[in-house]
Amino acid sequence: MRAAGVAVVGGSIAGCAFATAAARAGADRVVVLERTYGELTDRGVGLCVHDDRYAELAVAGYLDDSIAWHRLTRRHWLTRDGSPSGRLLWDQPFPFRSYHWGLLWRGLRERTPASVEYRLGDTVAAVANVPAPAANGTDAANGSAAKGIPANGSPANGTEGPAGGTGGASVRLVAGGEERFDLVIGADGYRSVVRAAVCPEAGPQYAGYVCWRGSFPAERLAELGTPAAEAWPATAAITVCFPGGQCVLYRIPGPEPGTLMVNWVFYTEPPATGARSDAPAGIPPGALAADLAGRLGQLAERHLPPYWAEVLALTPPVRTLLQPIHDLDTPRRTRGRLLLAGDAAAVVRPHNTSGAAKALQDACAFEAAWRRSAGWSELLAAYERERGEAGRALVSLGRRLGRAQVEQAPDWTTIDGPQVVAWWNSQVDGATGFGGQALAAPPGR
Ligand SMILES: Cc1cc2nc3c(=O)[nH]c(=O)nc-3n(C[C@H](O)[C@H](O)[C@H](O)COP(=O)(O)OP(=O)(O)OC[C@H]3O[C@@H](n4cnc5c(N)ncnc54)[C@H](O)[C@@H]3O)c2cc1C
Repeated sequence: MRAAGVAVVGGSIAGCAFATAAARAGADRVVVLERTYGELTDRGVGLCVHDDRYAELAVAGYLDDSIAWHRLTRRHWLTRDGSPSGRLLWDQPFPFRSYHWGLLWRGLRERTPASVEYRLGDTVAAVANVPAPAANGTDAANGSAAKGIPANGSPANGTEGPAGGTGGASVRLVAGGEERFDLVIGADGYRSVVRAAVCPEAGPQYAGYVCWRGSFPAERLAELGTPAAEAWPATAAITVCFPGGQCVLYRIPGPEPGTLMVNWVFYTEPPATGARSDAPAGIPPGALAADLAGRLGQLAERHLPPYWAEVLALTPPVRTLLQPIHDLDTPRRTRGRLLLAGDAAAVVRPHNTSGAAKALQDACAFEAAWRRSAGWSELLAAYERERGEAGRALVSLGRRLGRAQVEQAPDWTTIDGPQVVAWWNSQVDGATGFGGQALAAPPGR
């Protein structure tokens, strides 16, 4: 399927990876349409990728060591008991790499082949399948007739004609104008306009709780009385448990080489006033009103051991944000020549630590399916088969983790080590998806 024109709506993690996948697999025109202007690097905080998922993605050529990362090895589950740092509930193995969202995005962006046309400030209003014209269609039959996209009308080069029912897909821009492509990929996140055309019945579901998030330079930990290395080894992720929530903290690479930042996520009930906590977008960094910032301080003092409340208090309000927790699953990922990727296809609650790996795996599976497919139907069916159920299973696991860890958290004052392990095992329930599932090897490998 060479000579194909592919549009990717959204230029974030999934968008960059799919643009790379399509270009490497043989598309001769790949256009990324990203609605924001400028770099996305300043907007993200931290995320983690499981070591095993990293290894698979490195073999597939989607990640490598040149993107800054920080090693995590253990997860210390703690709860408040009157001591400065709290009582250790469980010291869990935690083989993950942590990333600065912006540095990961920049690394993926730099990896997109030079042939990819990455357009900033292009917002897509809607997408649609273009019906294939009747039998005598040649160039137009495969939807390639528009705007500089080469024709590829013969089944011999892998393009299906009218029998496939769809001749391509169109993209309508908010600024005006419509363009046609052979395939349109929706990498446009959880409020995807492409999803509205693929499965309009699916939408994000509010989990009923929120997370406060923040970050600051790790060197500021020295301002606290206890030496940081003693209170908190650099390779440990911390989870402080309390009734109705938890706070997860770990270090991530800082924007300057060799520096580290503290990244934290504090899950709790929504604030009673001052925020539309179920509004999809939440409150971005820098927009948190003083009363809400004060509310966060009260929550930290009430629920966290003193050391961890002091850690959170080192965060400047300008680097604090509030996000409602949502998830989303979709009954299908493809329709005609439209395809969903990353968060547009499935949003997993963050407890599962799998969002970025899942998006990159989607791109790997897409590239592998393209390379072995003779036509669009075969490619799209393979992608649906390999990624649809995997995404739904992760969403389901994320819901179980969220219920057990936030909505129906146990009485932490009485639980001990073996009971915590049993509690964890009952959530995971034999599933291998914590941190993402193993990437399926393509047939024949
Ligand atoms: C700025 C930003 C910061 C983030 N920070 C973190 C973080 O700190 N930690 C974490 O775990 N996850 C973060 N995420 C989410 C994380 O990137 C995703 O969960 C995961 O990596 C999969 O991402 P995605 O590319 O599928 O979707 P997203 O990352 O949501 O990207 C969707 C992209 O599509 C663009 N877009 C949306 N609609 C349109 C449209 N109509 N036309 C054109 N473009 C459109 C958006 O501007 C965005 O760039 C962040 C996402 C963004 C956009």
